[in-house]
Amino acid sequence: MRECRCSLRDRIFCEVRRSNAMPIARKVRYNRRMRKRLIAGNWKMNINSSETAELIGQIIEKSGDISAVDVVVAPPFTSLVSAKAAIGSSGIGLSSQNIHWEEKGAFTGEISAGMLKDIGCGWTIIGHSERRQYFGETDETVNKRTKMALISSIKPIVCIGETLEERDTGKTNSLLKSQLGGAFDNISEADFADTVIAYEPVWAIGTGRTATPEQTQEAHAFIRNWLKTIYSEPLAEACRILYGGSMKPANAKELLALPDVDGGLIGGASLKADDFSAIICASL
Ligand code: PEP
Repeated sequence: MRECRCSLRDRIFCEVRRSNAMPIARKVRYNRRMRKRLIAGNWKMNINSSETAELIGQIIEKSGDISAVDVVVAPPFTSLVSAKAAIGSSGIGLSSQNIHWEEKGAFTGEISAGMLKDIGCGWTIIGHSERRQYFGETDETVNKRTKMALISSIKPIVCIGETLEERDTGKTNSLLKSQLGGAFDNISEADFADTVIAYEPVWAIGTGRTATPEQTQEAHAFIRNWLKTIYSEPLAEACRILYGGSMKPANAKELLALPDVDGGLIGGASLKADDFSAIICASL
């Protein structure tokens, strides 16, 4: 087990919280045993291949032993090969930011599962709100991409989340329900196995505004309960649900301590090795 670099004050705070709220703490410990934490960095359209290799080197150096948590990085397509080399035997997972649903063909600008597997890319982000907002991604295309990832043994991180208007007009749960229904339409329990869901309220992405712990836990519990109605209870309990939206070292510990939060999908803060490593540390 690695030596955690969290401050003594943080550790004491955790202990005090544990003794004050035993039932929740017990549930958190139970869930922690069941679901390995996952911290994923989405580097979007930032940093070239040499900067990617440098950043990965710094993350490895600053994070120490990461065997107790799954760490994944998602650089742009052009940096995937150099990222793979920089990752080496560190145990960090490599993710793409997209995947197409066809095996190959005339789909300019897209990338296939075979191409990703060829370079050792084992994860993919699907349905990020920026894809939905700027590139016409729909629940139907999210579903097709997810199916292709799953049959190709590439683990999908499927993103869902409401806009500010949807939250303000009380439509968060119905929106989550329809995005979940669309994304996982016709995906069997057996096929779903490796799927990760990222709850990312659109109004919190890249804005510096984070969902409150109450809003986050409520949405994550809603997602897990939805899974229970469609699949089995063991599947719902095993599925990792990440929070994404301005997660940073200052708020990571509190968010990651929530019973139904199993990790984070991190944009801006994952581009700084110190911040990303601090979030990894907060997840341990
Ligand atoms: C994201 O892009 O998935 C994200 C959560 O970004 P940020 O952390 O910058 O809000």
